[in-house]
Amino acid sequence: MEEKCSRDKTGALGLAHTNKQPSSLSFPDTSTSTLTTSTLTHQHQHEPTGSGASVEQNCAEDLLSETSSDMETDPPLRHSIAQWATEFQVKHNAVSALLGILGEHGHSELPKTAKTLLNTCESVEHGLKSGMQYVYLGCKDQLLKHLKMYPQQVISELDFIDISLNIDGLPLFKSSKDTLWPVLCQLNLSPPTVFPLALCFGLSKPSNLDFLDDVVGDLRSILENGLEADSGLIRVKLRCITCDAPAKALVKSIRLCTGYYGCDKCTQKGLWDGHRVIYPEITNLTLRTDASFRDQSQEEHHLQSVVSPICHLPTNMIEHFPIDYMHQCCLGVMRKLILLWVRGPQADCRLGKLRRSALNFWSLESAFPMCLQGNQEVWRTLTDGRPQN
Ligand SMILES: [Zn+2]
Repeated sequence: MEEKCSRDKTGALGLAHTNKQPSSLSFPDTSTSTLTTSTLTHQHQHEPTGSGASVEQNCAEDLLSETSSDMETDPPLRHSIAQWATEFQVKHNAVSALLGILGEHGHSELPKTAKTLLNTCESVEHGLKSGMQYVYLGCKDQLLKHLKMYPQQVISELDFIDISLNIDGLPLFKSSKDTLWPVLCQLNLSPPTVFPLALCFGLSKPSNLDFLDDVVGDLRSILENGLEADSGLIRVKLRCITCDAPAKALVKSIRLCTGYYGCDKCTQKGLWDGHRVIYPEITNLTLRTDASFRDQSQEEHHLQSVVSPICHLPTNMIEHFPIDYMHQCCLGVMRKLILLWVRGPQADCRLGKLRRSALNFWSLESAFPMCLQGNQEVWRTLTDGRPQN
């Protein structure tokens, strides 16, 4: 009876199990050995009379001997290329092309494709939540994994670990509507580390807030009881939850910022000025508080159909959701001011050439929003007094 492991055409080792399902896949970890169960395909053939245990044992031995022989020859180069491709985010087709060139010049031991080299998972176990494909990575596992990257002394000297959350959607491709909604966590240490807690993937935004349930449930337990680590119990505090305005409205289950009760800081009702909703009052405002938010004291501000799961966290629903600086200040107020200075009503606010020169706009060039730097008309108008270097 002959049992043998096979190598597929991409160079990945094949291991047969007639009585076992393929092992579940995990996210690629290029920092570890390049030969893991995720590279193992299950296409081995053996005779039907063979014992399952001995087949696995023999294959494992073959695999180990082949692995150790590989370890002696190619891992340094293979591992280095994998690290280089990951560190510089080299495109997979470029890595595959490089592997092809190296293969033609004597490195036949290297895999032929980037997928094999990087242990790229073909599939990940996922469920369905909020109308999207959903993967939960585990708050505790992810926090412990990333805390281990810091020196133990740094962690032990802290009274508590400070974390922030971010929830937002991002388009993946220009050619399709595929969207990823990650729930990200940041360890506010030096240097800060950002990692995902959960991932949602689909054609639009989540249809409801079910995708937050796992994160909120586990995080609540960690915030209230601490994080159990090998070194002892670590206290964890949530500093803030950062979202842009549309994502904040979704996550908090409130009206959009373009609505009449859309301000998430005060209870002022907006006014329609013929083009948009504006909030003209800047004094004597009733500010929202955590208590008034949880009581839904201004019903119009909340979507009545659903209460945000974030309310289950020991967090301040107003103060812990900071203003989105990029959209509201840089791309909002600042962009609006600049456009008024350049194109606004002549008598009211548009600046003449002499005043633009006096204001030294060119000295602010590096701080200008990118969207304006791409607007040739605005850009020329603002910088027409640029001094010659
Ligand atoms: Zn307000």
